[in-house]
Amino acid sequence: MTKIYSVAGQLPQETPLIRRRPFCAPHHTTSQAGLTGGGGSRIRPGMISLAHRGVLFLDELPEFGQKLEILRQPLEDRVVTLSRAVGSITYPASFMLIAAQNPCPCGWHGDAERQCTCSPALVTRYQKKVSGPLLDRIDIHVEVPRVQYEKLSGARLVQTASHVHARSSTSYSAFRSGACTRRRSTA
Ligand SMILES: [Zn+2]
Repeated sequence: MTKIYSVAGQLPQETPLIRRRPFCAPHHTTSQAGLTGGGGSRIRPGMISLAHRGVLFLDELPEFGQKLEILRQPLEDRVVTLSRAVGSITYPASFMLIAAQNPCPCGWHGDAERQCTCSPALVTRYQKKVSGPLLDRIDIHVEVPRVQYEKLSGARLVQTASHVHARSSTSYSAFRSGACTRRRSTA
């Protein structure tokens, strides 16, 4: 991980040795080169390599568009090979992909209480933005319905939440202070 950040010119001065797993959450407007790596005379690693041995989190997955297709090969091979006029280079890219998306552009499709304002054609088009081959490479798909405020603020859930927090605090703090997050927060 340290080598990758060093090559990318993103090794934090205060931590010359990266010992925590990175958590990278690029915005959907990130360029293809920013996502997978690239550049002119010096081929730099992209987000998928900066997330090596950590998490690559893609929020609003369909908004990434065609750029997502380039992830198919790295997800299989765990490396990415970048070829340019100056030559080709292979960077490691063994990341855990976590993604989130709305069911439709307005976000209310399938909700029990609020009406979705999108046309059926629009919903279908939105849900087809992420290709089948890419979805096939994501092992777990979970539909998360809206949670009522009363349930969120209820005593029983608070107790459960603190329980979960105690169990997961170690791994969470590892991710929270991971290299990518730290770099983003100091930017
Ligand atoms: Zn909708």
